[in-house]
Amino acid sequence: MKQYKHVFFDFDNTLWDFTYNSKESLNDVFLKYQLFNYFVDFEDFYEKYEENNTNLWNEYRQGLISKESLTFRRFSVILEKFEIPDSRNISQKINSDYLSLTTTKTKIIDDAYEILNYLKNKYELHILTDGFFEVQVVKLRTSKLSPFISNVITAEEIGFLKPSIELFQHALKSVNATKEESIMIGDSYESDIIGAKNAGIDQIFLNHNNRSDLEIKPTYTVTKLKEIIEIL
Ligand SMILES: [Mg+2]
Repeated sequence: MKQYKHVFFDFDNTLWDFTYNSKESLNDVFLKYQLFNYFVDFEDFYEKYEENNTNLWNEYRQGLISKESLTFRRFSVILEKFEIPDSRNISQKINSDYLSLTTTKTKIIDDAYEILNYLKNKYELHILTDGFFEVQVVKLRTSKLSPFISNVITAEEIGFLKPSIELFQHALKSVNATKEESIMIGDSYESDIIGAKNAGIDQIFLNHNNRSDLEIKPTYTVTKLKEIIEIL
């Protein structure tokens, strides 16, 4: 087995429960802005938001739209269909509330705290994320995970998103690590696993949903974070 020194963690849905925390924040803005006047119910709003947000992130990944456009349009696109007075302004307010609300949510993935506590004396731990720096850093702090983490590297600062090889190479360089002594842990096969693999970095795939349609076999696969103890 390789002697790893650096462990790179994806953040959203690997350590921090993005799906749960985001849904809770969306429910908060749904109530605050009385969006129930326009949608059947919260689930209806959530479904439309998710679909639109996924499309916008795909455009952002391909460099077709800016971060500002992504954050603004994830609400405006679904609200513009209704003749809401001042919908542009309201979309901006909703987005800003949504972002600050998510940073107050603290649900983490099962055993995240225990696994970081276990790993912290053996390895240098870093975050490698596609999320926005100012948001991720606050989320890390409010969920009490920041004491374990040496560096937070965001795709935004490099200008390349996962799975681009440039991002992984930059991450290695910025923490003074070689690919041989590094391992990437993440819940996204397409972003975290393929990206690390292409950069020559070993990977641990956190396979929450028991996916079996993988073309390339990750170095290791776990379904729960606590299984990492058997690997590292
Ligand atoms: Mg993730």
